Amino acid sequence: MQEKGLLIVLSGPSGVGKGTVRKEIFSQPDTSFEYSISMTTRKPREGEVHGVDYFFKTREEFEELISQGKLLEYAEYVGNYYGTPVDYVRETLDAGRDVFLEIEVKGARQVREKFPEGLFIFLMPPSLTELQHRIVTRGTETEDLIRNRMLTAREEIEMMHLYDYVVENDQVELACERIKAIVTAEHCRRERV
Ligand code: 5GP
Repeated sequence: MQEKGLLIVLSGPSGVGKGTVRKEIFSQPDTSFEYSISMTTRKPREGEVHGVDYFFKTREEFEELISQGKLLEYAEYVGNYYGTPVDYVRETLDAGRDVFLEIEVKGARQVREKFPEGLFIFLMPPSLTELQHRIVTRGTETEDLIRNRMLTAREEIEMMHLYDYVVENDQVELACERIKAIVTAEHCRRERV
């Protein structure tokens, strides 16, 4: 029987640079996984192409997809819907190829529920890594600044426990290397059994 592909989910707080890292990964010729192009009701930005960057949909079309169960996950982000087409993901995995999703945290949580065996990678900005370190070591850093940053970051940091790996995005190239190394290691680990 055909071995199923691996579902790789890259997520993390807004502004961390998920899109930049994903574009870098898919610009590299040795990348072996398939990018799942999302659906969105957001208007195309300059240079964006339907069917390459996103499948651009109206709100009505998107809501129709939701009601037909065509989305593996979806979320509303800054007033627009974003979602992952379920058929593409299932067909590609069934064909034995790895699928890569780059999605925000609410969507990643839904995917975790449906695909607990997926590989979940949390992309972390270096500043949040520092914050997390401070919480863990329970230092004396209780200045207002840290508290405020903590408040905004807390919700997203709390999602971290749902992930298998945390990758710091200190440099895009390094983050890409780490993600690819994780995927390779995960294949070695899973194919051992
Ligand atoms: P942008 O509008 O900048 O392309 O994307 C905004 C946010 O939506 C980013 O955090 C991106 O990761 C997320 N996103 C893109 N596609 C999907 C998707 O299919 N589902 C979910 N839940 N989020 C997505």
